[in-house]
Amino acid sequence: MKLDQIQYGTTQINYSLEYADRKTLGIKVHPDKSVQVLAPLDSTADEVKKKIKVKASWILKQQDFFLSFQPLTPLRQFVSGETHLYLGKQYVLKLIKSDSQEVKLHGGRLEVSLKDKDDKKKVEQLLKKWYKGKADQHFNELYQSNQLLTNSFKKKPTGLKYRWMAKRWGSCDKDGGIHLNLELIKAPKKCIEYVLIHELCHLVHHDHSKAFYELLEKHYPNWKETKYKLEKLMV
Ligand SMILES: [Zn+2]
Repeated sequence: MKLDQIQYGTTQINYSLEYADRKTLGIKVHPDKSVQVLAPLDSTADEVKKKIKVKASWILKQQDFFLSFQPLTPLRQFVSGETHLYLGKQYVLKLIKSDSQEVKLHGGRLEVSLKDKDDKKKVEQLLKKWYKGKADQHFNELYQSNQLLTNSFKKKPTGLKYRWMAKRWGSCDKDGGIHLNLELIKAPKKCIEYVLIHELCHLVHHDHSKAFYELLEKHYPNWKETKYKLEKLMV
C-alpha cells in the first residue's frame, strides 16, 4: 500500500493506493474521511491520478457527508496555559482564584475566576456557559443577516436552535427548524456562516444531491475553502 494525493481546487485529497487483480478503479471513502483506492495491476500512478481527479467532487461529497457526523474536538484538561478557541482564535486559559465566578477575555487571555482552580469540572462548566452566551449573540446575528437568502425558497426557516452536539455541525429538521452545534462558536464566523447556509439550503433539498450543491454554491461560493478551514481548525 502506498500513500498519495491529488490537488483538486484548493483541496488536497489524500488516499491510500493498492494494486489488485481487477479491471476497473475502485474508490472507497470511509467514515473517518480516509480514501482507499484499488487500482488494476497494470495501471500507472499517473493514470490512477487522472481517474481520481474525475471522481474528486464525488469524493468530497462523501467526505462532507461523513463530516456532518464527525466533529472532532480535542480533549482539554482545563488547566492554566492550555489554549482554547473562540471565533477561530486561540486564547490561553488563565485560572484565577477568586470568591466570585467570572469568565472574560483579557489581554489575549481567557480568564476564568473561581474558588477552586483544581475543580476542572467547574472550569469546564463556566466556559461552556460563557461560550453559550457568546453563541446567543453571534449565531442569532448570523441567522438574522442571512434571512434574505431564503426569500426565494418555498419553505422558510422556522427558528434557530443550538446545543452541544457530539455528532454533527448542524441540521435542518422537517419543520424548518435550523440547529447548530454550539462547538461552532470556537470557529471563525465565516465557518459558522457556512454551516448555517448549508443547513438553510437543506430547506430546499434534504439531501446532498447535485442540486443541493448548486444552491449552496450560489449562496456561498467559497464553501469548499471554508469547509476545509473548519476541518483543519477543529480537528
Ligand atoms: Zn448537509
